[in-house]
Amino acid sequence: MCIFCKIVEGEIPSNKILENDEFLCFHDANPRAPIHLLIIPKVHVEKFQDVTPALMSAITPFIQEVSKKMGLDLSGYRLITNNGDDGGQEVQHLHFHLLGGTKLSWPHFSPEETHKAL
Ligand code: AMP
Repeated sequence: MCIFCKIVEGEIPSNKILENDEFLCFHDANPRAPIHLLIIPKVHVEKFQDVTPALMSAITPFIQEVSKKMGLDLSGYRLITNNGDDGGQEVQHLHFHLLGGTKLSWPHFSPEETHKAL
């Protein structure tokens, strides 16, 4: 069983923000922003590339509810999913990072780094 499935089952503790029958939101263990949450489906889906339109349709209002609960709906936030190796996905269970609580920098690469990667 993957680490996020263990969190869903309660075998590994998490700092929960919100949950319903289908989805769970909890604090990221290594926050990269003042607010850094993870939103996952309870069912094991490996990555975004495997997501169905039905799942995306259902998870969207859940994410919006989380953002409201955390007071980020007006100030703004960033929603990220890392997909596969090049995307930097470390946990092979679909998750959306919801980051906020400050003005986030952008982009991930400086223009120089981008140039080198081309
Ligand atoms: P990713 O690189 O997109 O796969 O992100 C995985 C995220 O899961 C990282 O930001 C980790 O800090 C986070 N993470 C890993 N294990 C746990 C855990 N047990 N509880 C909370 N967050 C976790």
